[in-house]
Amino acid sequence: MARLLDGKAAAAEVRAEVAEGVAELAAEGRPVRLDVVLVGDDPASVTYVRNKQADSAEAGIESRAHRFPDSVSQKELVALVEKLNGDAAVSGFFIQLPLPGGLDSLDLISRIEPAKDVDGLSPQSAGRLAVGLPSLLPCTPHGIVQLLRRNGIELEGREAVVLGRSNLVGKPLAQLLLRENATVTVCHSRTRGLAEVARRADVLVAAIGRRELVGAEHVKEDAVVVDVGIHRRGDGGLTGDVRFEEVERKAAWISPVPGGVGPMTRAMLLYNTLQAARSAAGG
Ligand code: NAP
Repeated sequence: MARLLDGKAAAAEVRAEVAEGVAELAAEGRPVRLDVVLVGDDPASVTYVRNKQADSAEAGIESRAHRFPDSVSQKELVALVEKLNGDAAVSGFFIQLPLPGGLDSLDLISRIEPAKDVDGLSPQSAGRLAVGLPSLLPCTPHGIVQLLRRNGIELEGREAVVLGRSNLVGKPLAQLLLRENATVTVCHSRTRGLAEVARRADVLVAAIGRRELVGAEHVKEDAVVVDVGIHRRGDGGLTGDVRFEEVERKAAWISPVPGGVGPMTRAMLLYNTLQAARSAAGG
């Protein structure tokens, strides 16, 4: 039976470390502040922002939300991004995605100063990661690497297979795993023989957004399996991209949904905000 990659416990560790760092900066008269741009009233986005603000408050990070109706123009949002870039009181900020139709999110994200890009999703941040320059790392992939590390899972020299190649998860995760000296394969919807490729993995990460597609046939005996997917079940609960009960019997480690990658993603946003505040404070 697989051991659990407990994201709640690892995230609590990260949050406690961040709270300590935030308190140190505050004691030096450098309060840490995270701003968020929220457009429209999509219930999921509103809930995500509320949770992120509650997490910030718990870590001692001040958080301000800039809310706009769906009718806001690209120009107004560009002006806000430029204002936040230039405001020394703002340690970092992010734009809650997705934006309503008609707004160009890539254009806006591209304008965020890399030093304040706490989501780590701008093309500049992605490029810096790819060429090995210091940058703020995207929260979900970084959270996955932290979850593995904090459970003592070795990555160097091991076969890692990432299912999914999105800019949000799959691609940056592949970069991070390379940085950890894993041998990395990235799969996507056109991959032939997905199960066969996945079975090569010592570390298998499922980030495809297909409910419970990954089963025992995709998993090598004693592999480490990380489930990034989030899907709402009929009964209101959550499930992932992996058939948990089936894979749990074959893998050495498995991350649950909920309680795996999700809490790590949230914690890494706080981590990035502290990093941004530290670099603004000169180290
Ligand atoms: P996405 O942008 O939809 O990307 C999905 C990727 O999976 C694409 O690269 C796609 O291939 C590939 N794919 C789709 N169906 C496939 C199949 N049958 N076989 C192989 N590959 C397939 O999704 P995402 O934003 O990366 O998110 C993935 C999942 O993670 C979603 O369930 C999302 O809700 C969840 N998520 C969770 C967290 C968290 O904090 N836990 C954070 C972010 C996302 P193509 O490129 O060829 O289309």
